[in-house]
Amino acid sequence: MIRRALALAMSLVCGVSAASATTWPDGAKAAVVLTYDDALGSQLDHAVPVLDEAGFKATFFLANLKPVDVPRWRAVGAKGHELANHTVFHPCPAAVFATDPRYTSEAYTPASILREIEQQNTLLTALDGKSTHGFASPCGQTLAGGVDYLEALRAANLVTYVRGVHTSPDDLRADVGKMDPMRIPARGFDEGVTGSQLIDFAKQAEAGGGMAVYLFHGVGGDYQQVSDPAHRELIAWLAAHRGEVWVTTLQGALDWAKAHPDP
Ligand SMILES: [Zn+2]
Repeated sequence: MIRRALALAMSLVCGVSAASATTWPDGAKAAVVLTYDDALGSQLDHAVPVLDEAGFKATFFLANLKPVDVPRWRAVGAKGHELANHTVFHPCPAAVFATDPRYTSEAYTPASILREIEQQNTLLTALDGKSTHGFASPCGQTLAGGVDYLEALRAANLVTYVRGVHTSPDDLRADVGKMDPMRIPARGFDEGVTGSQLIDFAKQAEAGGGMAVYLFHGVGGDYQQVSDPAHRELIAWLAAHRGEVWVTTLQGALDWAKAHPDP
C-alpha cells in the first residue's frame, strides 16, 4: 500500500502513469509471455492451434524430444513461435521424481550440463535455423552435482536468457530491460486452475506495467496440466485485450525492453 501511494505521488509529481515500468509497443500496458515446457504432445494438439487462431506467438522449451514430433516442432518454429532450450535429458534432483540415476542433476557437473545445453542448441538450430536460443532450467533449479552452474552458463554465453519458475508481485512492476536476463521470473499454476485465475495474472501485469511470464506443462493432457477450456479462456481474454497487453515470445519481450529503455 505504501509502495502504491508512493507510485501515485511520483506519477503526480512527474506527470507519468504509475504503470510505466517498461514502455511496451503500441501503448500496451504490459507484456504477456506464454511459455510451455517439456515438448509435450498436448501442447502441439491443444495449445498451438489456439495460439495460431488468435495470431499469438509463444515460447516452447524443448527437452526429451520425441523423433515422431520433430516435423511438428519444426512447423511450430516456422510459424514464428520461439523454440528454446530445456536441455536434452531434463536432469532434475533425484528427490523430485524417480528417474534413471544417470539423468539426475546429482549425476552431472557444471561442465557436463553446459555441454548438454550446447548440444540442445545444435538440435534447436537444426529445427529453426536460428543461431541463438533462450533457456529454461529443468525443474527451475541450476545445480549440477551440487554446484550452481548459472554463472558458468552466463560466462559461456551459450544462451540468451534463463527462465526460472518463481515470480513475485515486484516482478510484475519491474523494468524488464533492467532485469538480469539469467534470472527471468515465471509463474506456474496448480492443476485445476480456472480461466479467470489465469487471466488475473495478466491483469496484475497490466496494473504493474511489467511482464507476466506464464509457465505451462500439459494443456488438456499429459501432466501438471491446465485444462483445455481454462487455457482457451485465457487466450480469448488476451485476444480481446490486444491493445492493453502485448502477447509475444520471451525473446521478443526481452529484446524489446532492452531496445526501449524507460526514459
Ligand atoms: Zn521441464
